[in-house]
Amino acid sequence: MSVQERTYIMVKPDGVQRGIVGDIISRFEKRGFKLTALKLVHATPAHLEEHYADLKGKAFFPGLIKYMASGPVVAMVWTGLDAVKTGRVMLGATNPLASAPGTIRGDYALAVGRNICHGSDAVESAEKEIKLWFPEGVVQYTNDNEKWVF
Ligand code: ADP
Ligand code: MG
Repeated sequence: MSVQERTYIMVKPDGVQRGIVGDIISRFEKRGFKLTALKLVHATPAHLEEHYADLKGKAFFPGLIKYMASGPVVAMVWTGLDAVKTGRVMLGATNPLASAPGTIRGDYALAVGRNICHGSDAVESAEKEIKLWFPEGVVQYTNDNEKWVF
Protein backbone atom coordinates (compact mmCIF):
# COMPACT_ATOMS: atom_id res chain seq x y z
CA MET A 1 0.00 0.00 0.00
CA SER A 2 1.37 3.38 -0.95
CA VAL A 3 -0.01 6.89 -1.34
CA GLN A 4 1.81 7.18 -4.65
CA GLU A 5 0.88 3.75 -6.01
CA ARG A 6 0.00 3.78 -9.70
CA THR A 7 -2.32 1.56 -11.70
CA TYR A 8 -3.05 1.16 -15.39
CA ILE A 9 -6.76 1.44 -16.21
CA MET A 10 -8.08 1.06 -19.75
CA VAL A 11 -11.53 1.54 -21.23
CA LYS A 12 -11.89 -1.23 -23.81
CA PRO A 13 -13.35 -0.65 -27.31
CA ASP A 14 -16.91 -1.53 -26.21
CA GLY A 15 -16.70 0.93 -23.30
CA VAL A 16 -15.55 3.66 -25.70
CA GLN A 17 -18.25 2.81 -28.27
CA ARG A 18 -20.97 2.76 -25.62
CA GLY A 19 -19.95 6.16 -24.23
CA ILE A 20 -18.92 5.00 -20.76
CA VAL A 21 -15.50 6.71 -20.78
CA GLY A 22 -16.72 9.77 -18.88
CA ASP A 23 -18.36 7.75 -16.12
CA ILE A 24 -15.28 5.59 -15.61
CA ILE A 25 -13.04 8.67 -15.36
CA SER A 26 -15.55 10.31 -13.04
CA ARG A 27 -15.60 7.33 -10.67
CA PHE A 28 -11.81 7.36 -10.31
CA GLU A 29 -11.74 11.13 -9.83
CA LYS A 30 -14.49 11.14 -7.23
CA ARG A 31 -12.90 8.26 -5.34
CA GLY A 32 -9.85 10.48 -4.90
CA PHE A 33 -7.35 9.12 -7.41
CA LYS A 34 -5.20 11.46 -9.45
CA LEU A 35 -5.30 11.35 -13.23
CA THR A 36 -1.67 10.79 -14.19
CA ALA A 37 -1.84 9.94 -17.91
CA LEU A 38 -4.58 9.61 -20.51
CA LYS A 39 -4.81 8.98 -24.23
CA LEU A 40 -7.04 7.44 -26.91
CA VAL A 41 -5.18 4.69 -28.80
CA HIS A 42 -6.12 2.26 -31.55
CA ALA A 43 -3.69 -0.49 -30.52
CA THR A 44 -2.13 -3.01 -32.91
CA PRO A 45 -2.60 -6.75 -32.38
CA ALA A 46 1.14 -7.05 -31.60
CA HIS A 47 0.89 -4.41 -28.85
CA LEU A 48 -2.16 -6.13 -27.36
CA GLU A 49 -0.47 -9.53 -27.49
CA GLU A 50 2.30 -8.06 -25.38
CA HIS A 51 -0.20 -6.51 -22.96
CA TYR A 52 -1.97 -9.87 -22.56
CA ALA A 53 1.20 -12.04 -22.86
CA ASP A 54 0.26 -13.97 -19.69
CA LEU A 55 -2.91 -15.23 -21.38
CA LYS A 56 -1.27 -16.55 -24.53
CA GLY A 57 -2.43 -20.15 -24.98
CA LYS A 58 -5.92 -19.59 -23.55
CA ALA A 59 -8.72 -20.60 -25.91
CA PHE A 60 -10.19 -17.09 -25.80
CA PHE A 61 -6.85 -15.35 -26.59
CA PRO A 62 -7.35 -14.82 -30.37
CA GLY A 63 -10.87 -13.48 -29.78
CA LEU A 64 -9.61 -11.22 -27.00
CA ILE A 65 -6.97 -9.67 -29.29
CA LYS A 66 -9.53 -9.19 -32.07
CA TYR A 67 -11.96 -7.51 -29.64
CA MET A 68 -9.28 -5.25 -28.18
CA ALA A 69 -7.95 -4.27 -31.64
CA SER A 70 -11.45 -3.57 -33.01
CA GLY A 71 -11.40 0.12 -32.08
CA PRO A 72 -9.73 2.76 -29.93
CA VAL A 73 -9.23 2.25 -26.20
CA VAL A 74 -8.70 4.88 -23.52
CA ALA A 75 -5.40 4.25 -21.78
CA MET A 76 -5.01 5.83 -18.35
CA VAL A 77 -2.77 5.89 -15.32
CA TRP A 78 -4.31 6.69 -11.93
CA THR A 79 -2.28 7.41 -8.80
CA GLY A 80 -3.26 7.16 -5.15
CA LEU A 81 -3.57 5.10 -2.00
CA ASP A 82 -3.67 1.37 -2.79
CA ALA A 83 -4.52 2.22 -6.41
CA VAL A 84 -4.02 -1.28 -7.86
CA LYS A 85 -6.24 -3.21 -5.45
CA THR A 86 -8.84 -0.48 -5.14
CA GLY A 87 -8.95 -0.11 -8.94
CA ARG A 88 -9.75 -3.82 -9.25
CA VAL A 89 -12.50 -3.52 -6.62
CA MET A 90 -14.01 -0.59 -8.54
CA LEU A 91 -13.93 -2.63 -11.78
CA GLY A 92 -15.63 -5.71 -10.32
CA ALA A 93 -15.02 -9.35 -11.20
CA THR A 94 -13.64 -10.50 -14.58
CA ASN A 95 -17.04 -12.02 -15.36
CA PRO A 96 -19.57 -9.18 -15.14
CA LEU A 97 -22.28 -11.64 -14.06
CA ALA A 98 -20.26 -12.11 -10.86
CA SER A 99 -19.67 -8.35 -10.39
CA ALA A 100 -21.56 -6.58 -7.63
CA PRO A 101 -23.86 -3.70 -8.57
CA GLY A 102 -21.98 -0.48 -7.88
CA THR A 103 -18.87 -1.74 -9.64
CA ILE A 104 -18.14 -0.64 -13.21
CA ARG A 105 -18.63 -4.09 -14.73
CA GLY A 106 -21.54 -4.80 -12.37
CA ASP A 107 -23.30 -1.65 -13.57
CA TYR A 108 -22.53 -1.76 -17.30
CA ALA A 109 -21.63 -5.23 -18.56
CA LEU A 110 -22.95 -8.78 -18.91
CA ALA A 111 -20.42 -10.81 -20.90
CA VAL A 112 -16.88 -11.77 -19.87
CA GLY A 113 -15.76 -11.20 -23.47
CA ARG A 114 -17.19 -7.64 -23.41
CA ASN A 115 -16.37 -6.41 -19.94
CA ILE A 116 -15.60 -2.78 -20.96
CA CYS A 117 -12.53 -2.05 -18.80
CA HIS A 118 -9.11 -3.31 -17.72
CA GLY A 119 -7.24 -2.78 -14.46
CA SER A 120 -3.76 -3.97 -13.46
CA ASP A 121 -3.76 -6.96 -11.09
CA ALA A 122 -0.53 -6.21 -9.16
CA VAL A 123 1.91 -3.36 -8.61
CA GLU A 124 4.54 -5.07 -10.80
CA SER A 125 2.13 -5.63 -13.69
CA ALA A 126 0.90 -2.03 -13.32
CA GLU A 127 4.43 -0.68 -13.76
CA LYS A 128 4.99 -3.00 -16.74
CA GLU A 129 1.71 -1.93 -18.37
CA ILE A 130 2.43 1.79 -17.74
CA LYS A 131 5.77 1.41 -19.57
CA LEU A 132 4.11 -0.50 -22.42
CA TRP A 133 1.29 2.00 -22.97
CA PHE A 134 3.16 5.20 -22.06
CA PRO A 135 6.76 4.74 -23.27
CA GLU A 136 6.92 8.54 -23.52
CA GLY A 137 6.52 8.75 -19.72
CA VAL A 138 3.78 10.15 -17.48
CA VAL A 139 3.33 13.13 -15.16
CA GLN A 140 5.27 12.95 -11.90
CA TYR A 141 3.32 14.48 -9.05
CA THR A 142 4.74 15.80 -5.82
CA ASN A 143 2.61 16.48 -2.73
CA ASP A 144 4.07 19.98 -2.30
CA ASN A 145 1.14 22.01 -3.49
CA GLU A 146 -1.72 19.69 -2.53
CA LYS A 147 -0.84 18.73 1.01
CA TRP A 148 -4.34 17.61 2.03
CA VAL A 149 -5.12 15.49 -1.01
CA PHE A 150 -3.70 12.01 -1.47
P1 ADP B 1 -9.13 -9.29 -15.81
O1 ADP B 1 -9.37 -8.38 -16.99
O2 ADP B 1 -10.26 -9.22 -14.82
O3 ADP B 1 -7.78 -9.10 -15.18
P2 ADP B 1 -8.03 -11.70 -17.03
O4 ADP B 1 -6.69 -11.04 -16.91
O5 ADP B 1 -8.18 -13.08 -16.50
O6 ADP B 1 -9.17 -10.81 -16.36
O7 ADP B 1 -8.46 -11.74 -18.56
C1 ADP B 1 -8.23 -10.62 -19.39
C2 ADP B 1 -9.44 -10.38 -20.25
O8 ADP B 1 -9.65 -11.51 -21.10
C3 ADP B 1 -10.75 -10.24 -19.48
O9 ADP B 1 -10.96 -8.95 -18.96
C4 ADP B 1 -11.76 -10.57 -20.57
O10 ADP B 1 -11.93 -9.46 -21.47
C5 ADP B 1 -11.03 -11.67 -21.33
N1 ADP B 1 -11.45 -12.99 -20.86
C6 ADP B 1 -11.09 -13.60 -19.70
N2 ADP B 1 -11.66 -14.80 -19.57
C7 ADP B 1 -12.42 -14.97 -20.69
C8 ADP B 1 -13.28 -16.00 -21.19
N3 ADP B 1 -13.48 -17.11 -20.50
N4 ADP B 1 -13.89 -15.80 -22.38
C9 ADP B 1 -13.70 -14.68 -23.09
N5 ADP B 1 -12.91 -13.67 -22.70
C10 ADP B 1 -12.28 -13.79 -21.51
MG1 MG C 1 -5.88 -9.42 -15.93
